[in-house]
Amino acid sequence: MRIVSLAGGIGGARFLRGLLTAAPDSEITVIGNTGDDINLYGLRVCPDLDTVMYTLGGGIDEEQGWGRRFESHVVKEELAAYGVEPQWFGLGDRDFATHIVRTQMLDAGYPLSAVTEALCARWQPGVRLIPMSDDRTETHVVISDERGRRAIHFQEWWVRLRASVPAEQIILVGADDASPAPGVLESIAAADAVILPPSNPVVSIGTILQIKGVREALGGKTVVGVSPIVGGAPVRGMADACLTAIGVETTAQAVLELYGSSLVDGWLVAEEDAGVALDGVDVEARPLIMHDIESAAAIARAALDMAVRLAGRRADPPAPYAGSPAANGSGVPTRTRETPEEGV
Ligand code: GDP
Ligand code: CA
Repeated sequence: MRIVSLAGGIGGARFLRGLLTAAPDSEITVIGNTGDDINLYGLRVCPDLDTVMYTLGGGIDEEQGWGRRFESHVVKEELAAYGVEPQWFGLGDRDFATHIVRTQMLDAGYPLSAVTEALCARWQPGVRLIPMSDDRTETHVVISDERGRRAIHFQEWWVRLRASVPAEQIILVGADDASPAPGVLESIAAADAVILPPSNPVVSIGTILQIKGVREALGGKTVVGVSPIVGGAPVRGMADACLTAIGVETTAQAVLELYGSSLVDGWLVAEEDAGVALDGVDVEARPLIMHDIESAAAIARAALDMAVRLAGRRADPPAPYAGSPAANGSGVPTRTRETPEEGV
């Protein structure tokens, strides 16, 4: 089975690890958000791509959910000793190496998609990871503070200000001129199912959907989404601040309406959100907290089962994936991918 997933950082990566466990024999393509990307100290940093790559490749700091495990921060301390800004973005020493390699390759003329493929050759994430675009786009946030009304980089709002200043507008700068990276539209066209992980609907999934042709390509596919909002709150992080900025309530219902029935065919909500409904969309309630790899896999399995069922209503249903109840009669995956660490 060919599966395409759109993904941000932590929520996306943890879900994808479950998806790999649930459907080990599937061909999974991940279209990663690059709206969070930023230049720091002359280096190109792609936080969401790296979170997916490190999480699936066994290199993530599990506690934090981003950055490298066994990390040290000597370079950051030395930069601070020189008074170099910004000091609010924490890059560790091991992580720095990734950004150095990326920047060297970009400077040599390789597109980000080729660079990402090269970085993944080391991490072997088990999925094909493609940036949404090779063209530079950046999410900027319009705020008003003592310096007046101005736009700042998403990372400055998110990391330095912890989203404490209300966002008046969230804009993907460069979206109009950005083309999908090679493989983005092709993988969607070839997909048997598209799964939207519980990534941020505004600055992760919403960003990818702004790339030319992506929304249209998804229109012809069976798409199942997992709600990132459980019981009226993001499970972790500050997604509520992003939703408020675009005038959307922080509920599983409002996020479903934001996506709309033209995008999603199926929607998984948490049990406390049972009752969420939208014409033209199948809604199923089940536990949606990713405590560990198994609970993430159970959510992924439910999303895939739903996708297979919904695709079955179309003319050309996909073959069941290896872990599906239809394939082995039990709902238990036939093979579990080895992961270096337990716990998410
Ligand atoms: P980011 O780029 O690191 O912010 O990560 P994503 O955009 O991929 O995902 C962030 C979103 O994941 C948050 O807004 C949360 O709503 C959602 N999230 C995190 N953990 C869980 C979980 O255990 N269950 C569900 N349903 N959503 C989660
Ligand atoms: Ca992100």
